[in-house]
Amino acid sequence: MSIRRVWIEEGCIACNLCEDLVPEVFEVPAGNTCRPKKGHEAHLTGDDEMDERVQEAADSCPVEVIQLEQD
Ligand code: SF4
Repeated sequence: MSIRRVWIEEGCIACNLCEDLVPEVFEVPAGNTCRPKKGHEAHLTGDDEMDERVQEAADSCPVEVIQLEQD
């Protein structure tokens, strides 16, 4: 299984946890909610270690708004 796409549903509380865990993929701009970082797609190459970190971020999100598409 590889993570192919990441998006954030409404409801982010801007806790910054995902950015702390995977700053290559998530960013929480000051005063805003989380969004996939520009260029994050370059990090979704099927690398196991990266996929585990992104999965951990999704599992750790307190409001479960991080969505992943896997194949
Ligand atoms: S972990 Fe969830 S609530 Fe926290 S900043 Fe990321 S998307 Fe938002």
